[in-house]
Amino acid sequence: MIDSHVHLNRDEFTADRDAVIGRAVAAGVEGFLNVGYDPESSRASVELAGGDSRILASVGIHPHDASLLADSDGRLLPGAPALLDELRELASRPGVVAVGEIGLDFYRDLSPRPAQSTALTVQLELARDLDLPVIFHIRDAYPETLALVDAVGLPPRRAVLHSFAGDLTAARWALDRGCLLGIGGPVTYKSSHLPDLLPAAGVTAGDVLLETDAPWLPPVPFRGKRNESAYLTNTCDRLAQVLGVPSSDLASRTTANFGGLFGTLPGALDEVDATTLE
Ligand SMILES: [Zn+2]
Repeated sequence: MIDSHVHLNRDEFTADRDAVIGRAVAAGVEGFLNVGYDPESSRASVELAGGDSRILASVGIHPHDASLLADSDGRLLPGAPALLDELRELASRPGVVAVGEIGLDFYRDLSPRPAQSTALTVQLELARDLDLPVIFHIRDAYPETLALVDAVGLPPRRAVLHSFAGDLTAARWALDRGCLLGIGGPVTYKSSHLPDLLPAAGVTAGDVLLETDAPWLPPVPFRGKRNESAYLTNTCDRLAQVLGVPSSDLASRTTANFGGLFGTLPGALDEVDATTLE
C-alpha cells in the first residue's frame, strides 16, 4: 500500500517520525506522498522527499491560505508571482510529483471565496505548465470547484479528489475525466455516505487511492487519536468490503493506480519491481 496523502511534516510527528514510518512499513505501507498546503509545508515536503526514497512530495497553496496569492476581490497580490516562482522551483526538485493540495473550501472559509478561486485558477495553470497532476482539496464546494476546473481546464495529467466526500454527480465527474478518488478514514465511519455512494456511482478498485490525511481523520477504531500511516490497513479493509474485492487486491490495485497518476512510485517500490523483473 501507499499512503497517497499524509502530512509527516506536521509538529504532531516531530518527536517520533521515524517510529511512525517504521510502524507503517511494518503494517505494509511501502511509500508515502507528503502533501504541501502552504509555502512552509511545501518546502518541508520537498525536504522529506529528498532525504528518504520512500517519500514523494507535492507543493501547493491550500484554499485556507489563498489570501497569500489574491485579495478579497480575487485580484492577484503583488507578491503572487514570486510565490508561484518558488512553487515552480520547488516542483523541479527530486521526488515532487504533484501540485496540491489546492481547491475550494467553503466550510471553513478561511480565505475569501474570490481569493480561493483565483488561487485555484493560477495553480491549475501551474500544474499544466509543469506537466504535473493535481491533488484537490474540496469541502462544501463540489459544484463550484468542478465548474471552475472545467472552465479553466483540467491539466492533462489529471487529478485526485483527496478525501472524497462528494455526491453522485461529483463522483461521475471524476470518473468521466479519468480522475481518481482519494479515500481515507471517513469511509470507516458509521455516518459515512461512501459505502452506498461508491458502488452506486460505479466506482471500482481502479478509480481509487488509499490515504490517511494523517495526523487527521483516523479510521475506526482510532477515532480521537492522532492518525498515522500504519492505520491505512483499516481503511483498505473497509474500502475493499465496500467495493466487493479482496483487501490484498485493493492494496496492489491502488498502488498501480498511484503509479498511473503520479508517473512514479516511491523509491523502495521501484527497487522491488526491478528485482521482481530480473
Ligand atoms: Zn491534507
